[in-house]
Amino acid sequence: MEEFNLKKNEPMKNHTSLKVGGDADLFISPLSVDELKQLVSGAEKYKIPVTFVGSGTNILVKDNGIRGLVICLAGIKGKIEIVQEDKTNISVTASSGHLLSSLGRFALEKGLEGLNFTAGIPGTVGGAVMMNSSAGKGKISDVISYLEILVPGAGVKILGKKDIVFSSKGLVSKAPEVENSYKPVILKATFKFKKGDKKKLRAQWNEILNKRNLSQPVSLPSAGCFFKNPESGISAGMLIDRAGLKGERFGNAMVSEKHANFIVNLGGARAVDILRLKKRVEEKVFDFFSIRLETEVKIEGE
Ligand SMILES: Cc1cc2nc3c(=O)[nH]c(=O)nc-3n(C[C@H](O)[C@H](O)[C@H](O)COP(=O)(O)OP(=O)(O)OC[C@H]3O[C@@H](n4cnc5c(N)ncnc54)[C@H](O)[C@@H]3O)c2cc1C
Repeated sequence: MEEFNLKKNEPMKNHTSLKVGGDADLFISPLSVDELKQLVSGAEKYKIPVTFVGSGTNILVKDNGIRGLVICLAGIKGKIEIVQEDKTNISVTASSGHLLSSLGRFALEKGLEGLNFTAGIPGTVGGAVMMNSSAGKGKISDVISYLEILVPGAGVKILGKKDIVFSSKGLVSKAPEVENSYKPVILKATFKFKKGDKKKLRAQWNEILNKRNLSQPVSLPSAGCFFKNPESGISAGMLIDRAGLKGERFGNAMVSEKHANFIVNLGGARAVDILRLKKRVEEKVFDFFSIRLETEVKIEGE
């Protein structure tokens, strides 16, 4: 793997929006699918464990870092382009490394309906697909029509919507070779949008963005909502707030005063502080409401 720009002992706090985490033994950001394929098969051959990240906006890396190879997929960008169009619909393809916001802007410029809920959601297209990103009434799975996926050991597969099961937060494939694979990688996604009114869409986008900026601690490092919303209907943020946990703190990790489902890094927080706070929140919410919160943020490393 010498020909790649491989970094050793790379601090993961530089690659996550929480700005927390020890070093990855090895870190690399391939710039093409061919490079990615070579890396994945090299890692398989030498039995090096692999962790995939996009922009790291939904990941907490523990303080002792990640063993093996971290592959950052944010460098895999082709064009965002229209691939099909009829009177009412337009299909658009984007590579996994594009920012979701770039896809959102593309949709706005072309007057395409269906992505406005993503206004202000950071991260890559691949991360959004993998996490089935959602906000308000929208979710990314509503507009996906195809995915191109790299399945370690089985090559590149195209999955139609019927081959994919999206849970409230995440993607599972019904195709057996993907289901049995450990860690499929999203390479590209094709979305189907309705044609809409550019002016109305832009106004709605700005309104959603303003609301988000008013209700979320966007100026502090975080990983977005830390816990999934329980099935019971009351949001995790509401439960945490009602349990009196806003402002609860371990070290420099704090439950945001602005939005109780955000754990923020006040500066130099350690993963261990965040994990203690997570446990405290889970216990107190369970004591108050007998509801077990599930973590939405992916916890990696050791
Ligand atoms: C301020 C803030 C606000 C947020 N608001 C929202 C919100 O409203 N709604 C929402 O749903 N999320 C929200 N998030 C969370 C996050 O932005 C999304 O989940 C985002 O889509 C993650 O993308 P990413 O590229 O950063 O993924 P990462 O955090 O890098 O990765 C997340 C997971 O996806 C996997 N992954 C990433 N890329 C790929 C790929 N190409 N193929 C296979 N697996 C992959 C990783 O292995 C990891 O398990 C917010 C985060 C922040 C910091």
